[in-house]
Amino acid sequence: MMFAMAARRMGYRVEVFSDVADCPAARHCDRLHVVPLDDPAALVGVARGLDALTFEFENVSAAAAGALAAQIVVRPAPAVLHTVQDRGREKAFLVRHGFPVVPHALIRDAAGLEAAVAHVGLPAVLKTAAFGYDGKGQRRVVDRAEVAAAWQALGPGELVLESWVDFIAELSVVAARGADGAIAPFTAVHNRHRHHILDVTTSPAPLPRPVQAEAERLATAVLEALDFVGVGCVEFFLTGDGRLLVNEIAPRPHNSGHLTVEACACSQFEQQVRAVCGLPLGSPRQLAPAAMANLLGDCWAGGEPDWPAALALPGVSLTLYGKSEPRPGRKMGHLTVVAATVAEAEATVLRARDRACRS
Ligand code: AMP
Repeated sequence: MMFAMAARRMGYRVEVFSDVADCPAARHCDRLHVVPLDDPAALVGVARGLDALTFEFENVSAAAAGALAAQIVVRPAPAVLHTVQDRGREKAFLVRHGFPVVPHALIRDAAGLEAAVAHVGLPAVLKTAAFGYDGKGQRRVVDRAEVAAAWQALGPGELVLESWVDFIAELSVVAARGADGAIAPFTAVHNRHRHHILDVTTSPAPLPRPVQAEAERLATAVLEALDFVGVGCVEFFLTGDGRLLVNEIAPRPHNSGHLTVEACACSQFEQQVRAVCGLPLGSPRQLAPAAMANLLGDCWAGGEPDWPAALALPGVSLTLYGKSEPRPGRKMGHLTVVAATVAEAEATVLRARDRACRS
């Protein structure tokens, strides 16, 4: 939806492929194609006549993206999608290129589970290799009984067991990389999660500049190693002894970059349009400190949230995705605050959300 809005503002005609008719982008595009996203033949048929294609979610078929790439420009490349949409392949890529990662083991079957626990230790997190997002398909495990229960719940497909990291902070860097190799990282941001789902982002991350700079350097290097074209996000854990570990790579604009719409010279969505269309990248410069708080379906528990109360606070912007059903844990929208300091932006965005969601 936000990509479509940025593209149309620049005068592009936007067509959307979705497997549901009431997707958020439906109200912001020139044409909606409701097609099965794992059917290469159907997608190739509807893509005829288009110039370039990108995706807003990594769990789309890499084979379908590959079939489309024979016909039109697909950015990022299907090979990138293939690497990062599977945690096992993603980690193998990161290790191969010498990037710091969380100790982990790939599990292919029940026999591999025991070896993985012996290698990684406990506590740990068991994650499905494919189709995980927003904490879906992962479980924290502290003892053998929990490992067995998690295997029952998440198996029998490929899984990754990761050692539990007692991080002091989570950071992410959203960056654009152009077709010519130019790269434009946004400032490193600080993320807080609840139940494995992003809750609040503050930008710039309230951490020493060398830590921010190292995160930006690593994110740049990851996108270069992938030969990435488009907008991607690299998420990190910061450990107590000052090390940054790459947690995961998102091959698309990221929730932690939504505040770039209000806070930066060129938003992550405009950067995606520019990169995908082969234009020069815009400036990622941040114009003011900012904070973003997600609005999950839970906020609707007591009926329509109190938007007037939230928007009465200074510097608050509201973005709703137009999703019809506010289920608990479902991302429905977000609030952003731009302020004089990061602390003020964060305090105000939390107050705004409290006001909105008070039932
Ligand atoms: P992921 O889907 O892998 O990004 O995980 C979602 C969130 O779960 C992360 O942002 C962390 O807050 C938490 N998490 C995932 N893996 C670990 C880990 N190995 N150690 C500690 N927390 C984790």
